[in-house]
Amino acid sequence: MLRMSTLFLRTLREDPADAEVPSHKLMVRGGYVRRAAPGVYSWMPLGKMVLDNVAAVIREEMDRIGGQEVLLPALLPREYYDASGRWTEYGDSIFRLKDRKGADYLLGPTHEELFTLLVKGEYSSYKDFPVILYQIQEKFRDEARPRAGVLRGREFHMKDSYSFDLDDEGLERSYELHRQAYIRAFDRLGLRYVIVSAMSGAMGGSASEEFLAETPTGEDTFVRSTESDYAANVEAVRTPAPPALPIEGQPEAQVHHTPNTPTIETLVDFFNAAGLGRTFTAADTLKNVLVKTRAPGAADWEVMGIGVPGDREVDMKRLEAVLHPAEVALLDEADFAANPFLVKGYVGPNALLHNKLRYLVDPRVVEGSAWITGADKADHHVMNLVCGRDFVPDGTIEAAEVREGDPSPDGKGTLYTARGIEIGHIFQLGRKFANAFELDALGPDGKPRRVTMGSYGIGVSRVVAAIVEQSHDDKGIIWPREVAPADVHVVGTGKGEQIEVALRIAGELEERGVRVLVDDRKGVSPGVKFTDAELLGVPTALIVGKGLDQGVVELRDRATGERAEIPLETAVERVA
Ligand code: ATP
Ligand code: MG
Ligand code: MG
Ligand code: MG
Repeated sequence: MLRMSTLFLRTLREDPADAEVPSHKLMVRGGYVRRAAPGVYSWMPLGKMVLDNVAAVIREEMDRIGGQEVLLPALLPREYYDASGRWTEYGDSIFRLKDRKGADYLLGPTHEELFTLLVKGEYSSYKDFPVILYQIQEKFRDEARPRAGVLRGREFHMKDSYSFDLDDEGLERSYELHRQAYIRAFDRLGLRYVIVSAMSGAMGGSASEEFLAETPTGEDTFVRSTESDYAANVEAVRTPAPPALPIEGQPEAQVHHTPNTPTIETLVDFFNAAGLGRTFTAADTLKNVLVKTRAPGAADWEVMGIGVPGDREVDMKRLEAVLHPAEVALLDEADFAANPFLVKGYVGPNALLHNKLRYLVDPRVVEGSAWITGADKADHHVMNLVCGRDFVPDGTIEAAEVREGDPSPDGKGTLYTARGIEIGHIFQLGRKFANAFELDALGPDGKPRRVTMGSYGIGVSRVVAAIVEQSHDDKGIIWPREVAPADVHVVGTGKGEQIEVALRIAGELEERGVRVLVDDRKGVSPGVKFTDAELLGVPTALIVGKGLDQGVVELRDRATGERAEIPLETAVERVA
């Protein structure tokens, strides 16, 4: 029995100053979490219970699909991440540290490397496979913008699992098992969510889907069809294939190059000939155009974006000045054969800022422009580097280009956009990590077969906040029963008798297996107790108050707000 008189809990009347979204405000006010550093939180007793309840549901569903739980270290030596290339790839987003001998370590942001090595160490025959391993553990990522309390932490709890199979069909099976486990877990947790196609991003895999909890405060935007099952993260909208290059009927010489040291006039000619969908004049501006440039005498071309999103457009005069004396050309097939490559520079008012960033370019180019895909979330706002023309490349396209009311890619219905929180992510990784660590299984024919992998994550701590985002009102949290810290909140008002009766009822409920939080505080007004009960969000409240003289207690339903007076003798029976 949880007794409020001794519980390590202080609720707050005011929203914390740094909180913007409801879950952050309510979890802090309700004493569920306390901030220790930016993006780093302590879980208080009630918070820890909720977190454990969420983890328990996920654990049960992972066990149901045959997952085996392990616990790997969070402190990892650099060598594994060197082998996979991710020591470099991760850039600023991992926490790195040195031991007393000067050796490099990191705090694990996700664990593909170590899991691959673990399986390599134990398993060697085709008879050992398939296997699914998982853990529930703290992860560390030095997020650029930790926000919204535990929604985007720098230390957070993740369930991460990894599947190991001998062939593609096996991988698809393991992926489907995870998909079903996620559906069951998120349904049990009472979440409203969509499953959307996702870009595989820095992981380098192929098939990948995200589970997004629908809420206006979510950081991800997805599109969804009104009539079909089509739903996709805007990072990953698939559309028909582009026309082949080179584009027919365009005068080769003029289209592909400016002279060295272009003038405004030759630039205008160049852009007009490039067929960017509009006619330019010397007074015109450009935005979202991708070209390559080469200084006189230089051997290599550099890719340059002109007028990146978020910037103002760039006028011809400025372009002339910036490009002087370089030659400008359209990107051609050879450039894109070298995909992925980096865009080296941007022209625009904030060019200096953008020069620090690096973007991968999708191979599908149409008439001198390309869709840009970001290797990282932070890049997505500049992914929309595309000329103002209405073409549809086969690639990764960005929100602004997928408008509400557009037909959907599968020909059924129209698209609308909505926002969500990424609560889970499933990936068919393929052989990227198996290749890096040479993870093979000896086949029945005695020949080695390279293992294929999947990786699957759920943000356990993020899920807690996502539930609150979807389930609260202006008074507080409304927990679904499965995750609530208690089933019933028994409130005894007054000083003596009511509190004693409340404690007796609580005891009887507990004997019947009901989880009880009892407000047995003395010298605290009924109003404060009711306010706390609503803030804390336990599904049912049982008030032992003034009505006790007439032998009645009050039952309150947190979700519906319904209240009913019931005879004291029937209370335990009613609630249990
Ligand atoms: P996001 O796009 O929100 O940054 P991600 O795609 O980087 O997430 P994954 O690498 O797919 O995250 O990790 C698996 C899961 O871990 C995510 O689906 C999400 O639920 C959770 N997660 C990721 N980053 C955080 C974080 N900073 N705080 C809390 N949960 C997180
Ligand atoms: Mg991320
Ligand atoms: Mg993501
Ligand atoms: Mg993800």
